[in-house]
Amino acid sequence: MWTQIFRQAAENIKKRTNNGCTECSYRMPCPFGVNIPKNFRIWNDFSMYGNKEKTKQAFFQDMDPSSRGNQCQKCGKCELVCPQSISIRKDLEAAFKELSTLK
Ligand code: SF4
Repeated sequence: MWTQIFRQAAENIKKRTNNGCTECSYRMPCPFGVNIPKNFRIWNDFSMYGNKEKTKQAFFQDMDPSSRGNQCQKCGKCELVCPQSISIRKDLEAAFKELSTLK
């Protein structure tokens, strides 16, 4: 019974995130300085909780502009090692596009 409840809770949380990034950091460091897990954490947290002020703080004040997703040069190196098979280049672009509109 508990296993089923936990599985359902995990499934519900997963549905509310943009991607399944678990912040494993296997794909770091990015040769161009993109902080991949942090970009996805901010993006996924915003999707789950919708806290605009907290998201703005995390993205615009706490994060160095040189590590944001728009610095991605689309080399593809990170996607070769991502255990979740995330489309990192595409998702970084989507994350930046959405988060940068919050300003
Ligand atoms: S695809 Fe982008 S985020 Fe991934 S390693 Fe290359 S530059 Fe970095």
